[in-house]
Amino acid sequence: MKVPFVDLYAQYQNIKSEIDNAIASVIRDTAFIGGKYVEQFEKNYAEKYGFKYFLGVANGTDAIFIVLKALGIGQGDEVITVCNTWISTAETISLTGATPVFVDIEPDYYNINPDLIEEKITERTKAIIPVHLYGQPANIEKIVEIARRHNLYVIEDCAQAHFATFNDKFVGTFGDVATFSFYPGKNLGAYGDAGGIGTNDEDLYLQMKMFARHGALKKHHHLIEGVNSRLDGMQAAILNVKLKYIQQWNEKRYKNAMLYNELLKDIREITTPKVRPNAFHIFHVYEVRAQQRDELMDFLKQNDIAVAIHYPKILPLQPAYARLNHKPEDFPVGLAYQSQILSLPMYPELTEEQIRYVVQKIKEFYGYNS
Ligand SMILES: *Cc1c(COP(=O)(O)O)cnc(C)c1O
Repeated sequence: MKVPFVDLYAQYQNIKSEIDNAIASVIRDTAFIGGKYVEQFEKNYAEKYGFKYFLGVANGTDAIFIVLKALGIGQGDEVITVCNTWISTAETISLTGATPVFVDIEPDYYNINPDLIEEKITERTKAIIPVHLYGQPANIEKIVEIARRHNLYVIEDCAQAHFATFNDKFVGTFGDVATFSFYPGKNLGAYGDAGGIGTNDEDLYLQMKMFARHGALKKHHHLIEGVNSRLDGMQAAILNVKLKYIQQWNEKRYKNAMLYNELLKDIREITTPKVRPNAFHIFHVYEVRAQQRDELMDFLKQNDIAVAIHYPKILPLQPAYARLNHKPEDFPVGLAYQSQILSLPMYPELTEEQIRYVVQKIKEFYGYNS
């Protein structure tokens, strides 16, 4: 049996006519840039998520950069973020001229450890960027509380966590502003690059919109220099269709994760993911910790099971951050986990049969009789 890591074609087949119609409409209306499909998606996403304002942008990396620029963060400033995340979260901080300040992760939930944030705050600190990694909500109430006490912005990186909840509230609605990626493989994915930013702050929204539109809110009236970062009409139309299904797809991922957890629970070489109390984890990634991880990974690949690692090397130890002179022992949990973590196949259309096959092969590897 073949088990892909994700299967975007399976999802397309379930909604093919709606997607095909959406694409045809964009072409018929030649609404390629801006226009009604982008406006509809921005409105629908804002309403469904509970944001007053939502701005479509070109991708999830731009989203973070645009937020930081709009908040006036730059040279001489520091922004606190987490050591285990996709590089977008940190490189955009550097790109503004500011310095990323990395914090280790929590042992149970793989997100920024709030207990280690305050010791990293200096008079240069301007913001904290928690990431809701793997679709698991970070300890966001505590992070916001710390930020409020120190007068810092909270930018929630929700690229992996669309519609995940903590205490019955969507992640992204706790801080000042939230960024999203609609990269095809994300839980809510376009058919190309796409991203967005949600906030309730009108001034910030207008500042972001201006920066993302060449510094102009009115055509040919450039108040500042900006960038060109647009969500295009085709992606918006596709996302409008998929937005109707995202919550049911998240539920399916959650069910799949619970089945994995149940079937893997007696394998002592594997640590299955825990869900934070009062959280709805949307399992963008189903991450386990495994003994003999690299050998297990090879064995699964030989058996047609696609796996991945998120992420093989924590950011502070990547060559890109050599200038910050971090030592491995500065991030003991992130460091220990980077050689243990393994992402198993996870997507809504994954079947019970496929999950059982993955688990059977894991048992086989460790010499369990199944
Ligand atoms: C995917 C991702 C991004 C960047 O999104 P793109 O759309 O690929 O630019 C940012 N942060 C995290 C945590 C991500 O997973």
